Amino acid sequence: KKLMFQRAQSIINLLNQHGYEAYIVGGAVRNLLMNIPVNDIDITTDCMPDKIVELFDKTIPVGIEHGTVIVLQDDMPFEVTTFREDGEYEDHRRPECVTFVKSLKTDLERRDFTVNAMAIQHNTLYDYFNGEMHIEKRLIKAVGDPDKRFYEDALRIIRALRFMSVLNFSIEDETLKAMEKHAPLLSHVSIERIIIELCKLTEGINVAGALNTFFSIQLHKHIPFFKEMENFVVDQPISFVDYISLYIYLIDLSLLNKLNVLKLSNNQKKSIKDNVTLLSTLSRGDKSLPYLVYHYRQEQLINLAHIINLIEEIELSDAYREFNASEILRVKDALQIQSRAMLAINGSMLMKHFNKKGGPWVKTVIESVENAVIHNTLKNEKNAIIEWIDKHVKI
Ligand code: ATP
Ligand code: MG
Repeated sequence: KKLMFQRAQSIINLLNQHGYEAYIVGGAVRNLLMNIPVNDIDITTDCMPDKIVELFDKTIPVGIEHGTVIVLQDDMPFEVTTFREDGEYEDHRRPECVTFVKSLKTDLERRDFTVNAMAIQHNTLYDYFNGEMHIEKRLIKAVGDPDKRFYEDALRIIRALRFMSVLNFSIEDETLKAMEKHAPLLSHVSIERIIIELCKLTEGINVAGALNTFFSIQLHKHIPFFKEMENFVVDQPISFVDYISLYIYLIDLSLLNKLNVLKLSNNQKKSIKDNVTLLSTLSRGDKSLPYLVYHYRQEQLINLAHIINLIEEIELSDAYREFNASEILRVKDALQIQSRAMLAINGSMLMKHFNKKGGPWVKTVIESVENAVIHNTLKNEKNAIIEWIDKHVKI
């Protein structure tokens, strides 16, 4: 972490040497003052983007039109953004255009919350909006007129709750009022940007507080998928995927069909579907633990065991009384095979043995062999398996 600040400092120094101002801004300053880990360091400068690209060896232009260049310092990425002012907002999402400006203060004014609108240069803190005081008071307060700020960009409403959860802060009254007032504008914000903030929110410290506020000021009414949700608060940090899985499983299984509107990645969708299926299976008790351990990813099962522990409403079938991480690992270790490829027979052996062309029957036979091997009623040996097939399979 110290290394990260040293590298940021070298970027600032080089800009200074060429006559430019440069500061560390945003989350890094906030976390530094709070004495909590810094995720990444953003730098703001009056140097224009094309000049930044010229000055540094390794750069990646991530949004030249918005003034952002990534500078790689010893392979560590730093976002360097030119002081800017946001132009008119179109439709309450991103500004239509940005204007590069000369003063740090103007750049800080466009930022969302006072605790995110501070800058540091050579141990001097630039704090025009009482960010330090609000850290002291643990408050999220909009920079400037909250009404105007949430009207400009409604995503800030969700960001306020994200910081409430992650930093364990409260939201200042006027700020909260403006959030509630402008909630309907969330329907203009892209679901992808909302989900990014919700992912961070659910993993924060005060997820219960933030979700309570989310539902109490009726934000869910203006977000796809959440529209159909009711107040659903969890009191432990949890991944967004797990949060949605639990909601669907505990409240409304039919929402599984509407998952697409969240525009999640295929992996996220698959995890949610698997989680919901697994939770249903675990409550019915119709599959053995060896079966589950073989067919589902180990991390997913352990993760599920963990959340089942946290959420009282989940009732498991008696068959899984000991559904916990060590049991899952023990059962997995005891399996003869960890994948189908480890089975001592395969499809072509079966076709040869039965002197029959391939077809759906191959898969059916393989699955039944696999199942017997997983449950240790059959040894994973070619001869044993053939003998078992001759005895049990009639084709
Ligand atoms: P984290 O530690 O999670 O990275 P962060 O404060 O750095 O938190 P980011 O989302 O990375 O949050 O944004 C970086 C900075 O950019 C913020 O601190 C804030 O100053 C500014 N910012 C980001 N999004 C907005 C927005 N929608 N409106 C105004 N300012 C914003
Ligand atoms: Mg950041």
